Amino acid sequence: MITVSKLNKKFDQTTVLESIDFSVNKGEVVCLVGPSGSGKTTLLRCLNLLEIPNGGTITIGDKTVNFDQAPPSKKEIAQLRRYSGMVFQGFHLFPHKTVIENIIEAPLVVKKANRKTLIDKGKSLLEKVGMLEHIAKYPDALSGGQQQRVAIARALMMEPEVMLFDEPTSALDPQLVKEVLRVIESLAKEGQTMVIVTHEMNFARRVADKALFMDDGIIVEDGPAKEVLSQPEKERTKQFLQLLD
Ligand code: ATP
Repeated sequence: MITVSKLNKKFDQTTVLESIDFSVNKGEVVCLVGPSGSGKTTLLRCLNLLEIPNGGTITIGDKTVNFDQAPPSKKEIAQLRRYSGMVFQGFHLFPHKTVIENIIEAPLVVKKANRKTLIDKGKSLLEKVGMLEHIAKYPDALSGGQQQRVAIARALMMEPEVMLFDEPTSALDPQLVKEVLRVIESLAKEGQTMVIVTHEMNFARRVADKALFMDDGIIVEDGPAKEVLSQPEKERTKQFLQLLD
């Protein structure tokens, strides 16, 4: 489903991702964990080409983009992006659109899909994330957890092969974290392929098939989540987990 090979990313002269290799199979949940500044967000943004890597290749579905020579064309960026849906730390809903308008906007504009069909589909996704009763509200009338659940439904509307979550609960008050994690967990049970940057270790242990521990722009340890997050081999992973538990 996703194969990342020898991926490099620099900001100016500073290397922030160095020779990153990993793969995600269909239906797998992969958690990216590691200290602040280790490159987790940058890696996730590279998968969606919100950041353009400086080298290596990314394959998602049947599309491969090689960054070793020239930067990708707009067409290649659009092709690769189509495979993934991104959920950010801040929810980025359109403030002047209602919940349902937020949700149907992208497929309406990008796919030129039928409005009535989209509304029906939007309603079923809102039901799935427990937000159907708030369908006509504006984002500022919703809690952070509710906004994030709408953001998840919005990303699902495009039927992405893979969902990318960038610390989806870190902007939320503690009592709102659970409702969002519950939705992500239910997607995992349905077999949605996901890559999740998170500091929620118990959640990661419960939900992830694989975990990647990153530090200083490299993958230090990569393997089954139960091993990496509960019995890591590398000293750096052990130290990081001890700080959190
Ligand atoms: P956190 O857990 O704090 O979100 P992270 O592991 O996600 O951290 P990144 O946000 O990917 O780490 O940052 C990796 C490195 O790249 C950091 O040193 C950061 O300062 C740098 N960086 C990130 N974005 C940019 C940018 N747009 N311009 C310059 N440097 C950047």
